[in-house]
Amino acid sequence: MSCRRTPCPRNRAGADSSRPSRASSTKGQGLPGDTVNWELVLTRAVFAELCRRLAENPSRVSVCPSGLARLPDRHTVLVSALEFRNGARRGEANLVAVGAASEAELLARLRAAILRPPVDTPAVFLALGTGDVAGACVGQALSWRGPEPLGAVRVIAEGLPVVRLIPSQDQYEPDSEGNEIWSRTIGALSPPVWRRLTELKPAIVGCGRSGSLLAGALIRSGVQAATVIDSDRLELGNCGEMDLVNVADVGRSKSQAIADALRSLALADSEISDVLGGATSLPALLAAKDAHFLFGCVDNGAARLAITLLAQLYLKPMLDIGTGVMETASQGRNVGFDIRLLLPGRCLSCFGGLRLTESAAGMQNPQSIETDWRLQRLGSLRSLNMAAVGMGLRLVEDFLAGIIRESTWLSADYEDGVPRVVAPSVAPVANCPICALAGLGDAGLEEVPGLLERLERGESRSGGAPTMGSGGSGATAQLWAP
Ligand SMILES: [Zn+2]
Repeated sequence: MSCRRTPCPRNRAGADSSRPSRASSTKGQGLPGDTVNWELVLTRAVFAELCRRLAENPSRVSVCPSGLARLPDRHTVLVSALEFRNGARRGEANLVAVGAASEAELLARLRAAILRPPVDTPAVFLALGTGDVAGACVGQALSWRGPEPLGAVRVIAEGLPVVRLIPSQDQYEPDSEGNEIWSRTIGALSPPVWRRLTELKPAIVGCGRSGSLLAGALIRSGVQAATVIDSDRLELGNCGEMDLVNVADVGRSKSQAIADALRSLALADSEISDVLGGATSLPALLAAKDAHFLFGCVDNGAARLAITLLAQLYLKPMLDIGTGVMETASQGRNVGFDIRLLLPGRCLSCFGGLRLTESAAGMQNPQSIETDWRLQRLGSLRSLNMAAVGMGLRLVEDFLAGIIRESTWLSADYEDGVPRVVAPSVAPVANCPICALAGLGDAGLEEVPGLLERLERGESRSGGAPTMGSGGSGATAQLWAP
């Protein structure tokens, strides 16, 4: 599949018919007259299969049940499967895809589908060119308010390809000054890959040793917007190994101290937000939904499980970084790290060895998570965090360049002072209970309490496709609650 970005504003259907009044500006309240911008996110498998079907038979109308991620001013339709899974659930939204063999047909077929929608709203309509007009694309969203603009189609695959359907103000503008600042990085990565990196809009969960190093590296690379998330306050014992903080910051929230440092570190205008809250807090959920990429730099399984759940629910690529200086009975002092780049369909459980039972218990009962680091490890090494963060960032750069196409796990151990890095290959796991939530969006959050109860009981297989409303009692931890 091509991973070219196509920043071509070809959405003439959208331009014609999607100019709802902006007279009422009560942003995000869903009142008549409000405009919500829509995006469509597809997994690589869905996009490839849709293209194949439409090329084979352009007159076919494909309807895919979809999850929905709601933010005040943007709704994202999430498609991780072409059909209803086991007929067990209906999507909160739908994608209606048609093909067209000429430019004129693109608009005609899109309009025909919108005029006689085969599904209830909300729905996103997409006409994809085939044959001579392959690569052309027009689209439109339809909610109960009427037609609304579809801003972009994102495919979760190497290079994170984006088809922009309507011109947007935040589109990349070549900037000679910026290009000079980052000329070496641009030269090394190529301009398109560097641009993808700067538009990554990361949410970084965990602002400790690895998280602070990673956040600084991303901002110094030219990332234009980022959110840093952490529930802890800075203690004196954090200052030695963390980046970007000093003893004057002790007592402040880690995320706020890091965000302030990032603002002063940024070489150009960057939009930096901070969240004082853990991976299961509501602000973290909103930041994750808004982000294009999740970074997990946390030190416990419960937070890892929460991040990998969010990545699946909202079809976000993610990178998890874990380092350790441990003492084991068999090997003595063990120094190493694990880095996992995960695309939807692989999670930290089925591709990374996350221990589900204890992680689920920790998510349900945060008080049970061990907070005394001395009981978990011998200590921490800034050099080890730097090595892990550097290698993780290289993975992301190669993913954006299209060099890495699949979920990738790098595991490093030091043996007699020499790092040995392996890339474990793990066969796909049928019925992974975490991956079964892929693309369910907001509705999938209801499934999480029941899932955690089952995982804590040691039931680590998916019971098939989740059904709406089959969530647990909700009597345990308040997950992503206001
Ligand atoms: Zn999985």
